[in-house]
Amino acid sequence: MAKQTVKDLDVNGKRVLVRVDFNVPIKEGKITNDNRIQAALPTINYLIDNGAKVILLSHLGKINHKDEEKTEADKKKNNMAPVASRLAELVNCKVTFVNETRGAILEEAIANMNNGEIILVQNTRYEKGESKNDSELGEYWAKLGDLFVSDAFGSVHRAHASTVGIATHLPSACGFLVEKEIENLSAAIDNPKRPLIAILGGAKVSDKIAVIENLLKIADKVIIGGGMAYTFLYAKGYNVGTSLLEADKVELAKEFMERGKDKLVLPVDTVVANDFSNPTEIKTVNSNEIPDGFMGLDIGEKTIELFKKELEGAKTVVWNGPMGVFEDPRFAKGTEEVCKILANLDGAMTVIGGGDSAAAAIQLGFADKFTHISTGGGASLEYMEGKELPGIAIIQEKK
Ligand code: AMP
Repeated sequence: MAKQTVKDLDVNGKRVLVRVDFNVPIKEGKITNDNRIQAALPTINYLIDNGAKVILLSHLGKINHKDEEKTEADKKKNNMAPVASRLAELVNCKVTFVNETRGAILEEAIANMNNGEIILVQNTRYEKGESKNDSELGEYWAKLGDLFVSDAFGSVHRAHASTVGIATHLPSACGFLVEKEIENLSAAIDNPKRPLIAILGGAKVSDKIAVIENLLKIADKVIIGGGMAYTFLYAKGYNVGTSLLEADKVELAKEFMERGKDKLVLPVDTVVANDFSNPTEIKTVNSNEIPDGFMGLDIGEKTIELFKKELEGAKTVVWNGPMGVFEDPRFAKGTEEVCKILANLDGAMTVIGGGDSAAAAIQLGFADKFTHISTGGGASLEYMEGKELPGIAIIQEKK
């Protein structure tokens, strides 16, 4: 990889600002899933083992800065303190939580650090200027350190003060998590072994326009499932009943089908139900025979077979978006079967973009069956769209 990584930096005795993704779910002050903290440990431990003073920055949730009452409530809800407590349990060094994002207390705490210690700064979004990449804020934070390490893959598609702003002013490198993400996504998208097959699903065509567009250019096949398939089926002239339909995207779907021709693979049958939350009738019908009053909630058996055939011999597969409403076991089969097909593909690189398809693969027990499951839904989607990720672009190239 062309970008510097943490191993290219001489970190001994240096104040290293590390942008991590500690945006963990917290309920009543308790962290319910610490995966994101765990994922940052390789970089943190490497820096500690090599004598750095590690200053961690992360956002947590959202902070409304327009209404004062809401700002205070959001700050209370999205306080980093529980994250510091959990981190202290996971590392073998001193962890100090600084309940500030700027000022004398933070500056003194950093001045008093010893090598091999950690400071976790309060939620970066306490600062109004964070999400706007306020230049004064980025410059101020940069002055608190000597080096910058980007290890928050879930945030690299955002040009914020803590992702891009700081990196503008300091020698910079990617952490191990970001390095692994970029290596895998780049191998799958920029330099794939062919055939490259893309599987796209999820709720809406509108969320995936740019990714369909890019993958139609670079992939050998683009398989479409999930809620967004029904807009395509409607564009083919089929009745889709009460299935998810984006009427304003029908023309675009037609255009994609004309452009993609045989490259674009659509479901040939679908599991339909008479109601979303309380279905009393569930059946599988051909895609062109969806009855009025029924909605498509999963791909059917024939489609699973078709997708399996299309995937035979694939050397690279990228997947973003579930094949059906997988959260409900009655409509999870399509997503589960796609997981199984990919798990059994011989010699293929399989990459899942983050978000719901990653959640589905993990929830269905396939976490270790893929070459790579991305930790960043938005970031991996933008990578698959062919967009430059600002938080990566700003990192210095290897010398
Ligand atoms: P996305 O975030 O765009 O990847 O969409 C994921 C969501 O799409 C999940 O919550 C699924 O339940 C939902 N989804 C998948 N298939 C369908 C469908 N046929 N109808 C409605 N929602 C769907």
